[in-house]
Amino acid sequence: TYDVNDFDSLDVVNNDRDHVWHHLAQHKPFEQTGPMVIVKGEGMRVWDSKGNEYLDAVSGAVWTVNVGYGRTEIADAVRDQLVEMNYFAQTAGNVPAAKFSKKLIDKMPGMNRVYFSNSGSEANEKAFKIVRQIAHKKYGGKKTKILYRDRDYHGTTIATLSASGQYERRNQYGPFVPDFVEVPHCCEYRAQEDADKSNYGVWAANQIEKVILAEGADTIGALCLEPITAGGGVIEAPAGYWPRVQEICKQYDILLHIDEVVCGLGRTGTWFGYQHYGVKPDIVTMAKGVASGYAAISCTVTTEAVFEMFKEDEDPRMGYFRDISTFGGCTAGPAAALVNMEIIENENLLENASHQGEYLRGRLNDLKEKYPIIGDVRGKGLLVGIELVKDRATREPVEEETVMAVAGHCMANGVIIGRTNRSFKALNNTICLAPALISTKADMDQLV
Ligand code: PLP
Repeated sequence: TYDVNDFDSLDVVNNDRDHVWHHLAQHKPFEQTGPMVIVKGEGMRVWDSKGNEYLDAVSGAVWTVNVGYGRTEIADAVRDQLVEMNYFAQTAGNVPAAKFSKKLIDKMPGMNRVYFSNSGSEANEKAFKIVRQIAHKKYGGKKTKILYRDRDYHGTTIATLSASGQYERRNQYGPFVPDFVEVPHCCEYRAQEDADKSNYGVWAANQIEKVILAEGADTIGALCLEPITAGGGVIEAPAGYWPRVQEICKQYDILLHIDEVVCGLGRTGTWFGYQHYGVKPDIVTMAKGVASGYAAISCTVTTEAVFEMFKEDEDPRMGYFRDISTFGGCTAGPAAALVNMEIIENENLLENASHQGEYLRGRLNDLKEKYPIIGDVRGKGLLVGIELVKDRATREPVEEETVMAVAGHCMANGVIIGRTNRSFKALNNTICLAPALISTKADMDQLV
């Protein structure tokens, strides 16, 4: 436990304000208010340096702390591992990486190889490099293009931003990496004007095929999709979408890369989001929920068929994936991830995520009856979106300031919620909720 006065005497807030450059934050308001400094977490709740308590309904602001705060069993496992062997490059193996890989692969039928790095962006970069190298090895330098979807996000580096359909994130960071091509989103609530609304899932998937034909299938190596678009508005593809996507990838010899950075490890009530839809990916990336933020770890997981392609090359010295991530050899990540997975299993957190998510959406739909500002409630498991509108009939979105006001009101009342990213092309009117998988009915009631 912490004495709040300690933080005052340490001048934490002033030091933070003067020296720390926060992520995704406008710093000007801090001149008046000071930044928020989080000093303690326990279960679903965090405390700031002023002693305020919050129900964290977004698991560390960015849907990460899936098993909740204060897990001493993870901290103990990490400590023991660090004392035994903290680091050796992944050019060699280590014990927790081997154990965790086996446990992970057991949950991912069809997949077989785990490549370790440190963040979602990095895991996706590795996937893009795998696709590019295959293009050179197998297709004579063609098939280097990668398709990504409007409203999806794949990371903060220049290459992963080049593969992201969120304009606030991209704006002012160009020029971008060539050969990343956008396909239309699949948000039924915001269906495109010319869409076939009677069969929207198949129609939206067919828009991907249109792009493939326009670009030339022989130039496209992979299609990269979030299983459920998270920060772009919590968008689940409608029925018919995924089977058609799978068919298209097979027909045009395009690898399917699913970005599970948000949905991965239980968030939607299955280990991975794609497992709701019977999809068979070639590459799966994951990060946030892999160790619930107790250590930095990300994984790029492939089928054995993808891995096999790297064993040989015309030039025998080139027959391998020529990539390294220094900290992919840190043992803290897999040590934490292993215990994280055990907690999810032992505490039945997949079932709990499904169950509490359903309860939460039910209660939000009751609120929708009462408040016309709620246009749409959607999501799966404990990944939930609430789209706010000025008018239900026209679906005109509320201004960004309204969403900010709702978030501010919740914060003032002790609940931290999230919101979608501002976009010049799409919308920023959706509240995002992603409470920890340990949520109880009482937590959901407080949140509502
Ligand atoms: N992919 C998705 C779907 C994400 O939501 C994010 C981060 O929000 C990333 C990738 C990037 O992950 P990281 O911030 O760990 O680089």
